Order: sequence, then C-alpha cells, then structure tokens
Amino acid sequence: MKSYRRELWFNVPTRRAFINITSQIEECLKESGIKEGLVLINAMHITASVFINDDESGLHHDFDKWLERLAPHEPVSQYRHNVGEDNADAHLKRQVMGREVVAAVTEGKLDFGPWEQIFYGEFDGRRKKRVLVKIIGE
Ligand code: ZN
Repeated sequence: MKSYRRELWFNVPTRRAFINITSQIEECLKESGIKEGLVLINAMHITASVFINDDESGLHHDFDKWLERLAPHEPVSQYRHNVGEDNADAHLKRQVMGREVVAAVTEGKLDFGPWEQIFYGEFDGRRKKRVLVKIIGE
C-alpha cells in the first residue's frame, strides 16, 4: 500500500471565506501516483472546516448568512470562550461545517458526483493555517 501526506497552507485576508481546493487535491492525487484508494482532507485548526458542496456563489452567501444567524460574531461578549480572544463563533461555525472529508479515489481520480467540490472554510482568518491531505491506496 502506498501512502502520501501533504500540508496545504492558507492565509485568508478576511475573517471568513470559502475556498475551492479541489484542483489542489487533484494535484496531490497526481503527485501521489495512487490510482485506487481513499483521500482524507482535514483542517488542522479548530476554527476552520473542510467540506464538500456546490461551487455556487449564491450558496456560499447563504452558508455565510446561515452560520452568522446560528453563531453571530458580534457581540463577542455573548460567548464564554471569548476571554482574551474573539473567535468563539468560529469554533461553533467550524463544528457545523465539519472538520474533514473522505473521498474515494478510482482510476486515479476523485470519484465524485457531478457537482461535488472540496472547500476550505475559514472562520477566523488573517493568519496562516493548514489543511492535511492524506492519501492511501495502490
Ligand atoms: Zn478560540
């Protein structure tokens, strides 16, 4: 069995953003040489997510509005976590959007449905953060 590991770095200039990382994962897959197996992609930070959904700007706007309704950033004083920091909402948003995704690799490609794309979801940006890519298989 072959195994491949890589870290992808992000430094998002805004507090929140959704970034399509599908092509970067496809690059990793190519580099790994693995044709049949599984790829795991996870945020290495507890205020960011990796998730699969549609690459449609209206939907991303809807996600952002929905998450802001669930866990508004302001007022920061409403959260007990915010002692010396202001990112409690980011922890909650990440929990809803998930830590990681696992995708099947078939014939050297991500075995996706027609609209599936992989996203990095940032909820407390403006600093360097990492995503882990682990691919195992043959
Ligand atoms: Zn925190």
